[in-house]
Amino acid sequence: MSGGLVTAAYIVAAILFICSLAGLSKHETSKQGNIFGMSGMAIALLATIFGPNTGNVAWILVAMVIGGAIGLRLAKKVEMTEMPELVAILHSFVGLAAVLVGFNSYIDHAPGLAPVMENIHLTEVFLGIFIGAVTFTGSLVAFGKLRGKISSSALMLPHRHKMNLAALVVSFLLMLWFVQTDSTGAQVFALLLMTIIALVFGWHLVASIGGADMPVVVSMLNSYSGWAAAAAGFMLSNDLLIVTGALVGSSGAILSYIMCKAMNRSFISVIAGGFGTDVSVGGESDEVGEHREITAEETAEMLKASSSVVITPGYGMAVAQAQYPVAEITEKLRARGIKVRFGIHPVAGRLPGHMNVLLAEAKVPYDVVLEMDEINDDFSDTDTVLVIGANDTVNPAALEDPRSPIAGMPVLEVWKAQNVIVFKRSMSTGYAGVQNPLFFKGNTQMLFGDAKASVEGILRAL
Ligand code: NDP
Repeated sequence: MSGGLVTAAYIVAAILFICSLAGLSKHETSKQGNIFGMSGMAIALLATIFGPNTGNVAWILVAMVIGGAIGLRLAKKVEMTEMPELVAILHSFVGLAAVLVGFNSYIDHAPGLAPVMENIHLTEVFLGIFIGAVTFTGSLVAFGKLRGKISSSALMLPHRHKMNLAALVVSFLLMLWFVQTDSTGAQVFALLLMTIIALVFGWHLVASIGGADMPVVVSMLNSYSGWAAAAAGFMLSNDLLIVTGALVGSSGAILSYIMCKAMNRSFISVIAGGFGTDVSVGGESDEVGEHREITAEETAEMLKASSSVVITPGYGMAVAQAQYPVAEITEKLRARGIKVRFGIHPVAGRLPGHMNVLLAEAKVPYDVVLEMDEINDDFSDTDTVLVIGANDTVNPAALEDPRSPIAGMPVLEVWKAQNVIVFKRSMSTGYAGVQNPLFFKGNTQMLFGDAKASVEGILRAL
C-alpha cells in the first residue's frame, strides 16, 4: 500500500472516530456510534499493517491473533458489573504500551538528527514514558479499588501533596538533564529514575482518592491513556495515533470535568490526588438508630395505593440484574394509571451512564428516565420512592454532614417523598464506606434481600 493511500485511509479512520464519539453521546445513536468506531479501527489497522513503514507482518499477525483471542474470551466472560474494572485494566495496558514504545524509541532512533530535532525527540520520549507510567500504575490501583482488592477509602499519607509536587519537580529537572546531557549513561539513568518516580506517583495519585470520587478517576485515567497514546504517536511518527490519542484524551478530560461539576468537586483538586479533602474525615457510622422493615407484599399494596412513584436505581440493581423485573413493574404500574419515573444520579453504579444502559437493555422507555436535576424538585410530590440497590447516591449526609467524605456531593433527595422503600441485603455501607442516615428516617422502610428476588416478589403480588 502506498504512503498516499495510507494517509487517505488514516483521514477516513479519523473522521469515523469523530462520528463514533458523536454517535455515542446519545442513547438512540449509540449503536451507530459503535459501528463507526469499529469500522474506523478496522481501516486504521489494515492501513498500518499493509503500509510502507511496516515490516515483519507475520509477527504482527501472530500477536494480533493471540491478543484478539484473549480479548474475545474476556469480552464474552465479563459481566456488566465488571465493565469498569475491565476499562481500568485496559487503560493500564495503554500506559504500559506507551512506556515500552518510549524505551524502544530511545534505544532505536535514527542517528544524525539536527540538534533541535534531537531535543524534540528526547522530550517526546521522556514525556511519553512519564504519562504512560503514571497511567499504568494509576489504572492498576483503580482496577484494585473497583474490584474490591484494595480499600476504596482514600490513602492519607502525611505530606502527600508535598510528595506529589516533589515528584513533579524532580521529574522536570530530570527531563532537562536528559535532554541536555551528551552522556548515554546519564540519559539512561535519568530515564530509569523518572520511570520509577512516575510509577510511584501514579500509584499514589489514585490511592489518595476516596471511593466517592472514583468516577472522576476512571474518566481521568481514560483521558491520560489517550494522551499516552498520542505521545506514542509522536514517537512513532504516526499521525492517526496522535489524532486518536488526542480525541480520547480530550473527551476523557471533558467527561471528567462534567462528572466533577455533577459531584460538586473541584476538577483540579481531584486530579491533584484528592487535594483539599483533608477535612473529610469521620461521619462513618455516626448516625445509627432503629430501622423499620417491610415485605414485598406490603410494598406491592403501598404501590397500588400510590399515584406517583419514582425509582432510583444504583449499583445493587446491576449486581442483582434486577432491571428486567423492574421494567415489568414499571409497565404494570403504568397500566394502572400510576405515574412512574426513574431518577438517575450521574455517578450511580460503577460506570458513567451505567444505569441508563441497564434500563435501556430492559426496554424501559427513555422518556420516563430522568436525570437527577430533572427529578430532584419532584420528590416532595411523590408518594413512593423505590431505592433499588442505591446507597451513596441517596445519602442525606452529603448535604447534612460537612465532615462526611461525600459532603457537598449533590444527591437524589428521596427522603422528601411520603414513603421510601430501600432494597438491599443488609445494613452495610455503599461504595464510599459511609453510613446512610436515610435508613433510619421515619418515612423509610427496608426491604431486605437480593434486589431481583424482592422486585419479583412485588411483581407476583401486584
Ligand atoms: P453504592 O455502591 O453506594 O451502594 C450499592 C448498594 O447496593 C450497597 O449498599 C449494597 O448493599 C447494595 N447491593 C449490592 N448488591 C445487591 C443485591 N444483589 N441486591 C440488593 N442490593 C444490593 O451504589 P450507588 O449506585 O448509590 O453509588 C455508586 C457509588 O460508586 C458512588 O459512591 C460512586 O461515586 C461510586 N463509583 C461510581 C462510578 C461511576 O462511574 N458511576 C465509578 C466508580 C465508583 P448490601 O450489600 O447491603 O446489599
